[in-house]
Amino acid sequence: MLQATKLKKSYGGTEALKGLDMTVEGGDIYCLLGANGAGKTTTISLFLNFIRPDGGTAAVGGLDVAEQPLETKKLLAYIPEQVMLYGNLTALENLRYFSRLGGRDYSQGEYRGFLRRAGLQDGAAGRRVKTYSKGMRQKVGLAVALAKQAKALLLDEPTAGLDPKASNEFSELLLKLKADGAAILMATHDLFRAKETGTRIGIMKEGRLVDELSAGEVSHADLEKIYLQHMHVGGRYA
Ligand code: ATP
Repeated sequence: MLQATKLKKSYGGTEALKGLDMTVEGGDIYCLLGANGAGKTTTISLFLNFIRPDGGTAAVGGLDVAEQPLETKKLLAYIPEQVMLYGNLTALENLRYFSRLGGRDYSQGEYRGFLRRAGLQDGAAGRRVKTYSKGMRQKVGLAVALAKQAKALLLDEPTAGLDPKASNEFSELLLKLKADGAAILMATHDLFRAKETGTRIGIMKEGRLVDELSAGEVSHADLEKIYLQHMHVGGRYA
């Protein structure tokens, strides 16, 4: 569903991506790990067509994002670290607004259903979101993704700053989306969550994918060890 092929991006003299090859299938939660500046956000921004590649392709559902940006955007939902919502609108109003913007409209009951599925307490749906905690805002972001019936979900450090319970709830919701067949790509610094929630784990370093692991085949301790080995000069096999 998501495929990067020899994907390259430079900012001025900085080579942020140096020929990235990666695939995320439906039903996968692919967790992208890497130090600050490794190229994780750049990868996500290329799939979203926020920026254009200097070489290679980012494809969604087999379509090149740079060539068919409108079609590919319909297949995607995006959850950044801070979900952008209108503070003076309620969760229901925000959800309806963003859903209509994406070309889909539902009944009030259906919107409530999406918010419920995203884990928002029933009483909160009619409250202005400026009174919401960060975890609640992330849930509205997930409800927008559900209403959009997105085939692929791109997340950039979505659980940063969430308390462990909120982070756990968010991860449980991702598992439900995965079970529905969505392809999920998540940049994160949270090795524990990557192991718990991810199906696959990619380690990025200086614009390259230096390792790919199956989450089920490594222990927490091994994942941390492998990650740290890569972060040292020379990498895992030096
Ligand atoms: P973090 O974990 O800090 O979010 P990241 O892995 O997401 O890091 P990117 O944000 O993709 O990393 O950055 C990759 C490289 O590109 C870094 O060297 C960064 O300084 C550079 N970069 C990113 N965006 C820009 C920009 N708009 N202008 C110039 N350089 C940029």
